[in-house]
Amino acid sequence: MADLALDRLTKVFRSGDGDIVAVDDLSMDIEDGEFLVLVGPSGCGKSTTLRMIAGLESITGGEIRLADRPVNDVKPQDRDIAMVFQSYALYPHMTVRENMRFGLEESTDLPDDEIDERVEETAAMLSIEPLLDRKPGELSGGQQQRVALGRAIVRDPSVFLMDEPLSNLDAKLRAEMRTELQRLQEELGVTTVYVTHDQTEAMTMGDRIAILNEGELMQVGTPLECYHEPRNEFVAGFIGEPSMNFFAVEREGDTLRGDGFEYSLSEETVRALDGATDLTLGVRPEDVEIVGTASGEHDFVTTVDVVEPMGDENNVYLTFPDGSETFVAVVGGMRLIERGTTVVARIPEDVIHIFDGATGETLR
Ligand code: ATP
Repeated sequence: MADLALDRLTKVFRSGDGDIVAVDDLSMDIEDGEFLVLVGPSGCGKSTTLRMIAGLESITGGEIRLADRPVNDVKPQDRDIAMVFQSYALYPHMTVRENMRFGLEESTDLPDDEIDERVEETAAMLSIEPLLDRKPGELSGGQQQRVALGRAIVRDPSVFLMDEPLSNLDAKLRAEMRTELQRLQEELGVTTVYVTHDQTEAMTMGDRIAILNEGELMQVGTPLECYHEPRNEFVAGFIGEPSMNFFAVEREGDTLRGDGFEYSLSEETVRALDGATDLTLGVRPEDVEIVGTASGEHDFVTTVDVVEPMGDENNVYLTFPDGSETFVAVVGGMRLIERGTTVVARIPEDVIHIFDGATGETLR
């Protein structure tokens, strides 16, 4: 078993200009065989977390346990962890075979023929056998990426750590490698922590995703949990493409008043708000419906500002007649909607999210 526990993990970088808390009291259990994606905006502490798990960065506070064994003081090479870097970090003077052998020779005392066998097996798994005698400089980015993966896989570690391993690949190759990486991980069953700033990558790859912001864990859950039940406004805005629409609103009784619109709430929703009046209303672009005529209290006449064709869908930017804020609706690509026209946007009550205006916590 190789479950990985982060227990109140903290990293403070001391500098002349003041301390930087890169990771703040982070606790999380990653199950044996799980694919966990750490995701968040630039500077939120993803790489620092990964580097602490790898043993490449000292820990300011808290504990890391691998299969119940504290590893804070265990050297990187003795942690039974293999890391794949964004830059691939291959040795340029060594062939692919030598690159793959190297990590194994360092970390095990397997006999030579067994090492050879493992390298061949791993190369076959990644379809890189024809490249074994080439040097990294003679490979494409995608091929180097496979070799970097191969070097991690050949070691048969308890944990894979991956730091944005696909970010140097073009979009098509990245999409292919996403699927392949998932397949490999599932086949090998190795506990994996994968860092990315790309929410699409997180949503499509992770068994669970952990969303970080400014060193703090915002939420950990399955992609669908984080999408449908975001714990706060940050998660709601980070997960989903295009991002959730947010409106600053004030509640008076059962009515939310925003910039150019009013939205009436059912008794049940009002109860969930527990007296709060300073609120943020959140609506996902894919939950806004464009309908023929306004027929209910959650239908709004709006003006079409911009239509962004995305192929199978259009992103339609709308404004309320007396408002200044624009919001987005995702509409089927076959639907003809023209800029400057008026359309009716329906925002049913069961799709709205409501957050505390001050703390960003989800109220409903
Ligand atoms: P990115 O996606 O841009 O790589 P990240 O989420 O991986 O970002 P980290 O690299 O972990 O973020 O950085 C977290 C914070 O710690 C940032 O504010 C960063 O400036 C700071 N930091 C990272 N490394 C050091 C260091 N060696 N010395 C001082 N501050 C550092």
